[in-house]
Amino acid sequence: MTEQNTEDKVPATAAAIVDLLNSREFAIYTDKLDEPDLAAGILRRFDPAANGGDVDELRALRSSLLAIVQADGAAETEWADFTARTSAVTLRHDFSTPGAVSLHQASGDPVVGKVALDVAQLVSAGSWSRIRLCANHECERAFYDTTRSRTQRWHSYEICGNRANVAAFRARGKTAADA
Ligand SMILES: [Zn+2]
Repeated sequence: MTEQNTEDKVPATAAAIVDLLNSREFAIYTDKLDEPDLAAGILRRFDPAANGGDVDELRALRSSLLAIVQADGAAETEWADFTARTSAVTLRHDFSTPGAVSLHQASGDPVVGKVALDVAQLVSAGSWSRIRLCANHECERAFYDTTRSRTQRWHSYEICGNRANVAAFRARGKTAADA
């Protein structure tokens, strides 16, 4: 049984981070940050007022986050790298609404700040580990696992899961025929 991956179950913060990861060069896709129009769109995901913006900085953050997603285990070195890359950003707690608290950026690059805030929110919510790469090695698209069991292996069961199952089925059939 596979639960369907529905877009509406993916928090906006996660969707932005997943799109950032998928802007990299992978499978048949070229690096979207190399194309000014596409890069501007991705920058605006994190800072709606972004006019231009530092693409190289975003690229570095993307590499850092990709290394975390690719790492097995705690990824301590990778998280330390992300911490260093976002250390110029200062955040402050806003308690001005009684009974509520939110984090706002006080200084630093707005795009870097928003990426840091999004990642912080996902980590605090225990949802960061839901961001993974498709198990089909010819694909490796990043996705947000919306399943309760957190066992989704493919970005799309229809596209990559079926293909993997068919390949495994063929391999089993071949072995059986050879025996
Ligand atoms: Zn895939």
